[in-house]
Amino acid sequence: MPQSEFDIIAHYFKNQQVKRDDVTVGIGDDAAIISIPADRQLIVALDTLVAGVHFPDNTQAEDIGYKALAVNLSDLAAMGAAPAWFTLALTLPSADKDWLDGFARGLFELAAEHGLELIGGDTTQGPLTISIQVAGYVPTGRALLRSGARTGDAIYVTGNLGDAALGLRCLQQAGSFPYNDMAVYRLNRPQARLAFGQALRGLASACIDISDGLLADLGHILTASNVGARIDRQALPLSVSLQTMCQQDEKNYALALAGGDDYELCFCVSPQHDAALQSAIQQSGLRVTQIGTIEPQAGIRLHHAGQACNMEIQHGYEHFAG
Ligand code: ADP
Ligand code: MG
Repeated sequence: MPQSEFDIIAHYFKNQQVKRDDVTVGIGDDAAIISIPADRQLIVALDTLVAGVHFPDNTQAEDIGYKALAVNLSDLAAMGAAPAWFTLALTLPSADKDWLDGFARGLFELAAEHGLELIGGDTTQGPLTISIQVAGYVPTGRALLRSGARTGDAIYVTGNLGDAALGLRCLQQAGSFPYNDMAVYRLNRPQARLAFGQALRGLASACIDISDGLLADLGHILTASNVGARIDRQALPLSVSLQTMCQQDEKNYALALAGGDDYELCFCVSPQHDAALQSAIQQSGLRVTQIGTIEPQAGIRLHHAGQACNMEIQHGYEHFAG
C-alpha cells in the first residue's frame, strides 16, 4: 500500500464538514465519547456491504460510499430516528487513491446532507467490505417497531417498488436487456426516508424498511405483530418503466413484490389516524400508496382487481440459504 492505514484515516476520514455537539471525542483516540441527551433513546444499526454480494464488482466507488451509508440510514428511518453519527469499518484490497477519493466523496455527500459525523472506525486490508454502524435518537419511548400492526390497519409503502431490482437486472443482463438509467440510479442511490420516518412517530403502528423485497419484509411485520395481510397487486406503486413491463408480462410484478434494495418504508396505520397521516404525506412530498390491509389470519394473500391471484415468487435474498 502506498499510503499507510494512518495516512488514510488522516487524509480521508478525519477532516469533516459536520461537527456535532453530542460528539465529545471523535476520531483520534482509542474510542469515541458521545454525550447522549437525557430525554432521548439511542437507536443503533449496522449493515455490511460485501463486493460481489451486495453490489456488482464494477460499481463506482462513489456509489459504494453513498450506498453503504444510505442502507444504514434506511434502518434509522424505519425506527423513526433522527440520524446523528456513524462508525466505519473499511476493508480494502489496496490503498487505491482514486477509489478512496470517490468512496469518501459519496459517503460524505450523504453524511453532510443529514448532519452526520463519522466518529471512528477501523481500516484493514482484505477483500472489499464496508461495514457502517449508524446511530440516531428518538424521544424516549417513541421509536417505531415491527410489532404493533393490528387487524384493520391499512398497509402503505413510500415511493415506487421494484426499480432497484430492475436496475440490477440491467447490469446483470447487460447486452440482452435494455439499460434503464433511472433503475440503475435507484439501485446505486437509495433514498432513506428519514424525515417521513420521523413524521410517522405516533401514527404508524408498525414500520420496516424494504431491503429484501416487499413480501419478505412485510412478512417480518406480520410475524412480529402476529397478524396477516391482504395485498392488492394492482395498487403497487410502479415506475412507468415497470408498469409497462408488468402489462406485457405479469411475471414482472415479482420485481416489485420480491425484488430487493428498494429502501422504501412499509408501514401500517390504524384508520383512526388517517387524517393525520394524509397531512404528513402532503408535507413530505413523497408518493405514499396504500397497498393492502392487515387481517387476523396469518400469511399474505395476494389479490388483483378484487380477485385472489397466485404467483410463484422467489423469496427475498437470504445469506446462507444454500
Ligand atoms: P486502535 O488501534 O486503538 O483500535 P486505530 O489505529 O485502529 O485505533 O484507529 C485510530 C483512530 O482512527 C481511532 O479513533 C479510530 O476510531 C479511527 N479510525 C480508524 N479507521 C477509521 C475509519 N475507517 N473511519 C473512521 N475512523 C477510523
Ligand atoms: Mg487502541
